[in-house]
Amino acid sequence: MGRVLLSIVVPCFNEEDVLARFHDHVTAELARLDGDFELVYVDDGSRDGTLPLLQELAGRDPDRARYLSFSRNFGKEAAMLAGLRHAAGDAVVIMDADLQHPPELVHRMVALHAEGYDQVVARRTREGDRVTRTLTARIYYWAINRLVDVELVDGVGDFRLLSRRTVDAVLDLGEYNRFSKGLFSWVGFRTTTFSYENAVREQGRSKWTFGKLLNYGLDGLLSFNNKPLRAAVHLGLLLTVVALGYAAWIVGDALVNGVTTPGYVTLLVAVTALAGVQMVMAGLIGEYVGRIYYEVKRRPHYLLKETGGGANPADTRVTGESLWETVAPK
Ligand code: UDP
Ligand code: MG
Repeated sequence: MGRVLLSIVVPCFNEEDVLARFHDHVTAELARLDGDFELVYVDDGSRDGTLPLLQELAGRDPDRARYLSFSRNFGKEAAMLAGLRHAAGDAVVIMDADLQHPPELVHRMVALHAEGYDQVVARRTREGDRVTRTLTARIYYWAINRLVDVELVDGVGDFRLLSRRTVDAVLDLGEYNRFSKGLFSWVGFRTTTFSYENAVREQGRSKWTFGKLLNYGLDGLLSFNNKPLRAAVHLGLLLTVVALGYAAWIVGDALVNGVTTPGYVTLLVAVTALAGVQMVMAGLIGEYVGRIYYEVKRRPHYLLKETGGGANPADTRVTGESLWETVAPK
């Protein structure tokens, strides 16, 4: 494989503390690459000095750095989507701005890509994480891989290299609810994984709260198929069979021994337990309906407020609501 144009997509949300350092680090690292590269920063509606900083970076190095800025915070998934849409490279690497994804590893990714891999995935170890988080992650991945069709691996995140055809395939998936981890796994192609040591976030703080993680987990569970619904049907059937068996036993017992025990406790437990199960099931159906609701609305994933830098003038237009459609991925 000859020289490739490599795009680095960087979602940024309130990253003013590390961004300049990130930029210097990455440009220095990539300068050693055999080939050109571009940095596509996506400002996900930051409320700090991230945007002015990006403007400055892109102004200083317009050939290699450009940025997109959202009208508000749309989330990392949306930021990655925007970055992938605008990336022009033959290969694209997605990286966090907080230097938790070591830029040194990009060389390794590019080398593996040159060997013919479409996806090169960096898998972080869980060194330095809180024990509780490591444990929850273990359990979650154990459970989820039994429930969804695509394979999800612990420690594997969005830090990866994607070949052009993989990027195009991911962009062809037009769903509104995007769970990239699963989407990347779903598109397939030749994939390889390597491990790297987890780096503790240097500055700023993680935007993940427990609630966000929980919802992210649920998203992963519900985004791929209707197995949870199927599981609900199975559970319902099981409960029905058990209840019928128990009823038969009670009737038989009453016929033989007469009515003796009142069974209030049994009744109460059965009623509350079933109410709980039913609520979960109703919620489950609601989740799917909610997803359909969002898909049907067909709202854009994000709105661009402004773009800048980049050699291609089409990308530097100040944009209204339609840019997300009109700028086609190259
Ligand atoms: N991020 C984003 N939008 C958000 C939250 C995060 O673009 O709403 C970016 C953030 O700037 C960073 C990356 O996504 O570059 C990962 O975020 P973070 O470090 O908070 O997550 P963690 O590393 O703890 O998983
Ligand atoms: Mg981080």
